[in-house]
Amino acid sequence: MAPRRQRRVDALAAAAAEWQERVIVPHCAACREPCCRLNTVVLDLDWPRVKALYRIETPKRAFDAALAAGDGPSHLRKQGDLYYAHVLPCPAYDEAAHRCTVYGSALKPPSCTDFPVYVDGEGVTADRRCEAVDLTALQAHLERATGMRLRQEPDDDFPELVTLVPLQSRDRERSSE
Ligand code: SF4
Ligand code: SF4
Repeated sequence: MAPRRQRRVDALAAAAAEWQERVIVPHCAACREPCCRLNTVVLDLDWPRVKALYRIETPKRAFDAALAAGDGPSHLRKQGDLYYAHVLPCPAYDEAAHRCTVYGSALKPPSCTDFPVYVDGEGVTADRRCEAVDLTALQAHLERATGMRLRQEPDDDFPELVTLVPLQSRDRERSSE
């Protein structure tokens, strides 16, 4: 990536992370539909995390074979190297305290850290399944923090995802067409 473009992405990433810490995380304890219950979102995990979080005792090969045969846990499925958990709450979620018990540890999946606001390509994607996401306020924050002007681009396939893309990127794309 060209240095100037990389600087823009870095600035957006820093501003998005600051937003997560200041606006999203404080709301989690009062959230009406915590994402960690995995009702609305799907959690993707690598094998070491599946094994540790779900306390799986069987070797990976046997576990994968059971999953493939439909004899594994129904809330887990495997695709490629990753496992996807859905419907049952994440085992690391403390429902009473409304908090993640592996927060800040290596066991916490990267996708949890990214949710619901993360850098995607040259923009910042916000996932509106999180009730703390206010797109207008997020856009204003990112524009203020980075000095960029952004436009909202909804995802064609997943309407809950909206990416805030720098106008400069689109101008450059158009001029190169
Ligand atoms: S959906 Fe949003 S506010 Fe609710 S627990 Fe998840 S990150 Fe926190
Ligand atoms: S690992 Fe933590 S943040 Fe991720 S889904 Fe489980 S409880 Fe939530």
